[in-house]
Amino acid sequence: MKFSFTAIAALALSSSLSSTTAFSTVVRSNNGGLSSSSSILRVSTSSDETSTESSTHNPVNGESESQSPRKNDKEVFSKHKRPTSFATKCASLYHPKPGAGRGLAPPVYFGSTFLLDDAAHGARLHEKREAPYTDDDGFVYSRWGAPTNEAAALQIAALEGVDDPFHKNGLGKCLLFNSGMSAITSALMAVLRSGDHAIFPYTVYGGTHEFAENFCKEWGIEVTYVDASGVDGPENYKKAFQSNTKVVYTETPANPTMRLTDLAGVGKVVDEHYGVAIDTVGSEPNKRKRPWVMVDGTFATPYHQRVLDIDGIDVSIHSATKYLGGHSDILAGSVTSRSEPFLHGASKVQKLITVPLNPMDSFLLARGLRTLDVRMQRHGENAIKIARMLEAHPAVVSVFYPGLDSHPDRQMSDGIFKSGRDEDDDDDFNQTYGGMVTWVMAGDDDVALQRAQNVCEHLRVINLAVSLGGVESLIEHPASMTHTMIPREQRMAGGLADGLIRLSVGLEKAKDLLEDLTNALDMCDDIPGSDVEDI
Ligand code: PLP
Repeated sequence: MKFSFTAIAALALSSSLSSTTAFSTVVRSNNGGLSSSSSILRVSTSSDETSTESSTHNPVNGESESQSPRKNDKEVFSKHKRPTSFATKCASLYHPKPGAGRGLAPPVYFGSTFLLDDAAHGARLHEKREAPYTDDDGFVYSRWGAPTNEAAALQIAALEGVDDPFHKNGLGKCLLFNSGMSAITSALMAVLRSGDHAIFPYTVYGGTHEFAENFCKEWGIEVTYVDASGVDGPENYKKAFQSNTKVVYTETPANPTMRLTDLAGVGKVVDEHYGVAIDTVGSEPNKRKRPWVMVDGTFATPYHQRVLDIDGIDVSIHSATKYLGGHSDILAGSVTSRSEPFLHGASKVQKLITVPLNPMDSFLLARGLRTLDVRMQRHGENAIKIARMLEAHPAVVSVFYPGLDSHPDRQMSDGIFKSGRDEDDDDDFNQTYGGMVTWVMAGDDDVALQRAQNVCEHLRVINLAVSLGGVESLIEHPASMTHTMIPREQRMAGGLADGLIRLSVGLEKAKDLLEDLTNALDMCDDIPGSDVEDI
């Protein structure tokens, strides 16, 4: 069965969906251990569980290899005696009644550890501890794989399009981390070692730049920055290639300039220079001769940009704190790839250093994903109206929004922004370009900077706060906030002017946002606070 992007976004990846091997593990854990009488400790009398053949899941070809059958949950749970003493009752686990697994909201599994079938089962699971996902043999310890986390990860893998068994580049997987930075640093640490070289764009999220400067360089990794934007981007990367280059890193649309990178072009120059990637299962990701091409696509999300469908792109990264979560209530990050050696390396970093996304935030992320399709559409509809108003306002010198004809990479934007459409959709769709709009205030550097800060403070509907991608509109001033850690010279080289403002357009009524912003721009030379009335 093939699902459209819209349908995948709306699906609750709960126990009712068991179309993947890894997921069926969740189904079994969820249904098992249920009792016909209420609250009987770990005694299953009514579970419809039957013992099934267990298997290991191959992340590259998606096939499962048979191994010894697992004991069913009823058998494992019923080994325990009914507790009679107060203290043991306190320390025991009581399960919900049968039917709990049919909730259309996915369950949240907080367990750090899982009951084992027997000693041999425990030994077997420990042998498999480095695998990116738990297989049908079950969960052992949450740092090595946890049900709520994996359910959300499966949904992102599906949205990224790497769950299609017929795709020419094979199947892939998503790993979820406790923040976008955790996802980025894990992906980099999976492949970079002392003596290697990595290429980053000038315009990149401030934290990524800080990691490159303060950690990569300290750890003996050479770093080169390039102008990754527009038609010259791929050639600029090419000029920086070295024999020890292990990472070609991109962020597109770039935060905060909204410049676009020609990913197909980057994949092509890397392939031409180093040869097409051939990954052998079990190989060391750091030993690969061809650099790993990584894309931070946080601003676009897979609604617009499915980067792993582009030849030559190895890794897709998102700060899921933003649009994927969508409600400014979690920190999360995703790393998705079709490469088994890469996933293996990244999951090793995850298990030993950076930790998988916790159960509650995995639940909230999965809930956010269910409305991604409609949220992204509305973000884009609101954003184009705001971008057009800004273009016409005398206090603004330039606006960067990929849907405007004045955008420097406009020739690329229709190809990049998919707007949720699937391959078999006709041309009748709502073309949008995401919810991020940036602009530069008029005036020389100091005046523009002051005006930018004044505008941020004059707003009464839009919130002055960093981050982006939530249901509410958020505005910030990158030069003094999110990108202040990038040296000014480098900010300028990447097109980040002092007077640039970044707006994450929310889901409010467009009219309210337009009025609020127009008013703040009109007052950009007035001292903030002078218009606040006492209530
Ligand atoms: N990538 C981009 C493009 C971002 O904008 C951000 C944060 O703003 C990050 C990564 C880091 O994400 P997080 O704050 O979830 O660690």
